[in-house]
Amino acid sequence: MARSGSGLIALGIEMQTADVIVLGLGAVGSATLYHLAKQGVRAIGIDRHDPPHNLGSSHGESRITRLAVGEGDAYIPLVRRSHDLWRMLEAETRETLMLQTGGLLIGSEVPTPHHGREDFLNRAIGILSRHGIPHEVLASAEIGRRFPQLGLRGDERALYEPSAGVLFPERCIAVQLQRAQALGAVVRRNERVTGVRRIGSGVEVETECGRLQAGRVVMATGPWLPQMVDPSTARLLRVYRQSLHWFPADPVAYGPDRFPVFLWMHGASEEDYFYGFPALGGSGVIKVASERYADATSPETVSRDVPASESAAIFARHVAGRLRGVGGDVTRAAACLYTVTPDSGFLVDRMPDLENVMVVSACSGHGFKHSAALGEAVAASVAGAGDDLIPFALGRFAEQSLPQTK
Ligand SMILES: Cc1cc2nc3c(=O)[nH]c(=O)nc-3n(C[C@H](O)[C@H](O)[C@H](O)COP(=O)(O)OP(=O)(O)OC[C@H]3O[C@@H](n4cnc5c(N)ncnc54)[C@H](O)[C@@H]3O)c2cc1C
Repeated sequence: MARSGSGLIALGIEMQTADVIVLGLGAVGSATLYHLAKQGVRAIGIDRHDPPHNLGSSHGESRITRLAVGEGDAYIPLVRRSHDLWRMLEAETRETLMLQTGGLLIGSEVPTPHHGREDFLNRAIGILSRHGIPHEVLASAEIGRRFPQLGLRGDERALYEPSAGVLFPERCIAVQLQRAQALGAVVRRNERVTGVRRIGSGVEVETECGRLQAGRVVMATGPWLPQMVDPSTARLLRVYRQSLHWFPADPVAYGPDRFPVFLWMHGASEEDYFYGFPALGGSGVIKVASERYADATSPETVSRDVPASESAAIFARHVAGRLRGVGGDVTRAAACLYTVTPDSGFLVDRMPDLENVMVVSACSGHGFKHSAALGEAVAASVAGAGDDLIPFALGRFAEQSLPQTK
């Protein structure tokens, strides 16, 4: 990649130039910028808000990480490498980014779809077995013996994975941006990108504040991607509102040394599902959420308020009777956005009409755990190395086989 000069003065306006410009500094963009800077690439990151913030897909205090990626074998190298990277970043910065709590994936003998995969529980068990990752498959009585907090029907089965746990998303983003800046990357906050176009052999990025040029651009704008990519890519992406709810719980019984992160598929449909976290930091609250794919939305039009009636409905449908002793009086709630592809997988590829622009959408509800390694792989890929991202390429959505987006 050609290295450009340190800045041009054009018509009295300073034009910043770089080898790579990263658009969006959420989970994926902050990781990409950090790894570019680490490799000595001259990089600029731009975000329309002040990350970490609560307007995209990366807020709400916690994310589950698990190697039990029933989403597919292709995600195993990413999540394993991410665990190493989070630990390395913790050592560099003395921040706690990941807390190992163990994780339960609860289902039953009835195959249940999740994240676009049929029979998610058995897929996850198969993946852990194939990759030699320690795990146990527990029958209902054993789940109840180990985790008396859970109200079980008696027909459950669960995959218990000791390596699963919690990531702290806001801290992960903040630390990666700090490290990127310390290594020489430029971070431009509260500056909206308004256009991206080819210029010579490179790319010009237009923002509210001016123009920048680079050899390559990484577009990691999360739920804003559909409005920034070409129409053929945009039609693969749907944005859905999700909501997070914090309910009161005994801080000891539900503390992270006694209670794991969990995903619970308790019925036959994909929405008979919720997941949750232990009570973190001695707080007497646990966070739970479900997933909904009813109506597509956008960051501009989404309702960010979460009415008490919505929390009450989540409690009644999912929590009541399943998490013993957890109270129904919600203490806090937040809305967040999923960006979903037709197969619920990642989308990482060059933009069809702008080959120097790489689009990275790692959401579909399971992206955070992979984001550290994804950023590293994207940084390597724009520098011309590595083919780890082929499973996430656009080519799999061939015109004739394009499934209906959820
Ligand atoms: C409720 C919820 C729960 C989840 N739970 C889990 C979980 O337990 N485990 C897990 O692994 N994953 C989980 N995920 C998924 C994971 O959080 C996402 O995959 C990940 O955060 C997506 O990051 P991103 O960088 O793609 O998007 P974002 O973090 O939203 O970043 C996009 C950035 O682009 C910026 N931007 C947008 N447009 C512009 C523009 N025009 N100019 C400049 N900047 C722009 C935005 O300001 C934003 O900062 C969850 C997601 C949600 C919403």
